[in-house]
Amino acid sequence: MTTASGTQEVATEPSRAEARNGFDEINILWISEGMSCDGDSVSLTAAGQPAIEDLIQGLVPGLPKVNLHNKVLSPSLGGEDFLAPYRAAIRGELAPFILVIEGSIPNQNIIQGEGYWTSFGNDPGTGQPLTLNWWIDRLAPKAWAVVAAGTCATYGGIHAMAGNPTGCMGLADYLGWDFKSEGALPIVNVPGCPIQPENFMETLIWVLYHAAGAAPAPPLDHMLRPQWLFGKTVHEGCDRAAYYEQADFSKDYNSPKCQVKVGCWGPVVNCNVPKRGWMAGIGGCPNVGGICIGCTMPGFPDAFMPFMDEPAGGSLSSILIKPYGAVIRRLRGITNIAVNREPKWHHNKPVLTSGYDPHWRP
Ligand code: SF4
Ligand code: SF4
Repeated sequence: MTTASGTQEVATEPSRAEARNGFDEINILWISEGMSCDGDSVSLTAAGQPAIEDLIQGLVPGLPKVNLHNKVLSPSLGGEDFLAPYRAAIRGELAPFILVIEGSIPNQNIIQGEGYWTSFGNDPGTGQPLTLNWWIDRLAPKAWAVVAAGTCATYGGIHAMAGNPTGCMGLADYLGWDFKSEGALPIVNVPGCPIQPENFMETLIWVLYHAAGAAPAPPLDHMLRPQWLFGKTVHEGCDRAAYYEQADFSKDYNSPKCQVKVGCWGPVVNCNVPKRGWMAGIGGCPNVGGICIGCTMPGFPDAFMPFMDEPAGGSLSSILIKPYGAVIRRLRGITNIAVNREPKWHHNKPVLTSGYDPHWRP
């Protein structure tokens, strides 16, 4: 296009940053009043990539400004001061927000008459406790995204085991597995008892980049877990996997060998903790002597009990691998001795025995 002064004006495409269609600011309304120990909130404080402090101070490039409301990490005076943003969100006066639920959801319908299993603040009119279910029913339909933090919130966890009196369940059981948030996202499940800090932070960061319009929705598997975090088994990332392959099993918890015969469920559990470690890459259940009890799994804990007994599949697979492991361990032992020797031409005698041939050949 030519301007009045005769100069040529070049039509420019908006930059990627300008073309974004997302939020500049977002709230996180975190409710830990599910049936839980608050361990997920505590675990989150161990995240370092980034740290929660970096997130709320706006030090992560490209993210919206984040206003975090979490009772363990809140600078408020508590009480109604802390509840104010939650009440505002219900009135439709605070948006957008991400709803994070921590803890198992009791089935309030099984309580006949008065009573409640867990509550969060009181009804100002009656002074009666407001149940967790009351808050979820009102906040989830307005939330831009809904995230379940920890195995209790994702799949019910310990509170939902057989024989429990509360009818506890995971958030997707409560809201429906086909639930979609205001932002058209399914529930995002981050299991773990508690959450591995970086797993949760990485997922939250992905959701926040999506909110900023800078990333697609996080890819989830059929149990609504982040695919890239829960796609492999504990065994596939375990420091002790080579012992398993050589059928070298520990008989007690003091041994550095594979722990399958003392109760490890790692071969069939989806979790990246042995690869990732726990804090700053250190720790990670089997790596440091703890058997995997399947704490990230939808069947936890019932499917993995009694803890510390050898899994049925573990005894079969360890029997099958025994002959292969015994032979391969012996052969590797022989080769290991051979490669632990220096070559015979490494010596200080006055003659060269390396096989060097000084004659040039065409
Ligand atoms: S300790 Fe558990 S996860 Fe590690 S190699 Fe043995 S069975 Fe697999
Ligand atoms: S390795 Fe097993 S016990 Fe440890 S966090 Fe993962 S699933 Fe839970």
